[in-house]
Amino acid sequence: MFKKVFVANRGEIALRIIRSCKELGLSTVIGFSEADRDSLPVQLADEKICIGPAPASESYLNIPSIVGAIEITKAQAVHPGYGFLAESIQFVEICKASGITFIGPTSNNIQLMGDKALARKTAKSYKIPVIAGYEENMLNDALAHARKIGFPVIIKASAGGGGRGMRKVNTIEEFVKLWNTCQEEAKASFGEDALYVEKFLERPKHIEIQLLGDKKGNIVVFPERDCSIQRRHQKLIEESPSPSVSAPLRKKLYKYASRLAKRIGYQSAGTVEFLADSDNNPYFIEMNTRIQVEHPITELVSGIDMVKHQILVARGDKLPFSQKDITIRGHAIECRINAEDPSRNFMPSPGRIKKLILPGGPGIRVDTHIYEGYTIPPYYDSLILKLIAYGMNRTEAIYRMQRALEEIQIEGVATTVPLHKRIFNHPVFLSGRYSTKWLENFLASEQEQEKKEA
Ligand code: ADP
Repeated sequence: MFKKVFVANRGEIALRIIRSCKELGLSTVIGFSEADRDSLPVQLADEKICIGPAPASESYLNIPSIVGAIEITKAQAVHPGYGFLAESIQFVEICKASGITFIGPTSNNIQLMGDKALARKTAKSYKIPVIAGYEENMLNDALAHARKIGFPVIIKASAGGGGRGMRKVNTIEEFVKLWNTCQEEAKASFGEDALYVEKFLERPKHIEIQLLGDKKGNIVVFPERDCSIQRRHQKLIEESPSPSVSAPLRKKLYKYASRLAKRIGYQSAGTVEFLADSDNNPYFIEMNTRIQVEHPITELVSGIDMVKHQILVARGDKLPFSQKDITIRGHAIECRINAEDPSRNFMPSPGRIKKLILPGGPGIRVDTHIYEGYTIPPYYDSLILKLIAYGMNRTEAIYRMQRALEEIQIEGVATTVPLHKRIFNHPVFLSGRYSTKWLENFLASEQEQEKKEA
């Protein structure tokens, strides 16, 4: 049984992991890069050790350095958070060979779901619906299939993630060119250039199911999250439950997600992602084999600490609840606050936080690693704060979020707060009838308006 957990991550998720460890009576060690020496998780962990210079390739992605740090500090388990090494088969296997418990799924789980084309095939073989498409990495055959299913289609990198490595293709003529662009991008971003093709859905909803699996074969699924408010395929706002998912659709989503997790013997926190078309038919798109950024809304709605149970199942514990214990208790919404300037095409805005006033009061949760005087380094993801509102129902959660967005003050860097304020006052968002297309259209229309006024 492990007593000391190594946190192989940074920022808000590192802090989130430390908090659950503390509540479980586990001691923590954080591995930090030179750029993160003054960060909050480094201050709050029981022990700290530097794992390398600022660039992630030399620190947070540096397996020999991290494994060495785990051994030096005598930690018995490692939590990878999200991003970095969370879905690295190589890291999971090295941990196993070194007797370190990896707080996450098995390497086999990651292998099956990490490759998105293989994940599609696997889901199909379990009779889980997928969008019409073609999984083989063969240009000519892919083009032939694209013609058959009809344009527009979307070319995706099998190793893709974070909304990168995909391209919408509107016509036959641009297919080959965009295939090549995607291939180059995939190679540069993920080190692998395999691609696959799907029919492009015009106004889908992104709906996902968080689940927990233990090592005894138990799977519990949680109320869906709607993550359709996106920019460049990246989530900006998530809510649970989804304003557009009916009880029968929820039942289907639960059934497909738990079938997939059971059939692959999934053992950890994970998320099965779906797109729902305009007729509310769900299609599997991928599975994330890690804890996700948006897990807090599920925690608020279900009353279950996802990170704590992820740690406990890694220790070999049986899940202490079953499917019948899971109900929807109210409504939760999360705003991802990034240090980016929405008025300058979302350019990253690192720098020193000169003033910070955090919102609070009933139903507000803030997950963040920033504090007044902290300097946001330029090397990593621009997520600096997750503002989460909870209410008895969607209306109350929205009122609370609107209030919290008025209360929050972050000075010294540009943030996405002004954009969140506009979204939370927009009739389409308030109606709940939005698709993955909506935010991009809204931003484009705002730009148009600005041009006219200029
Ligand atoms: P990633 O692994 O990079 O997160 P996903 O496959 O999960 O990529 O897709 C991310 C987003 O891209 C989706 O939420 C959706 O907005 C868009 N998308 C993906 N596949 C399709 C599709 N077939 N049609 C329309 N939009 C899609």
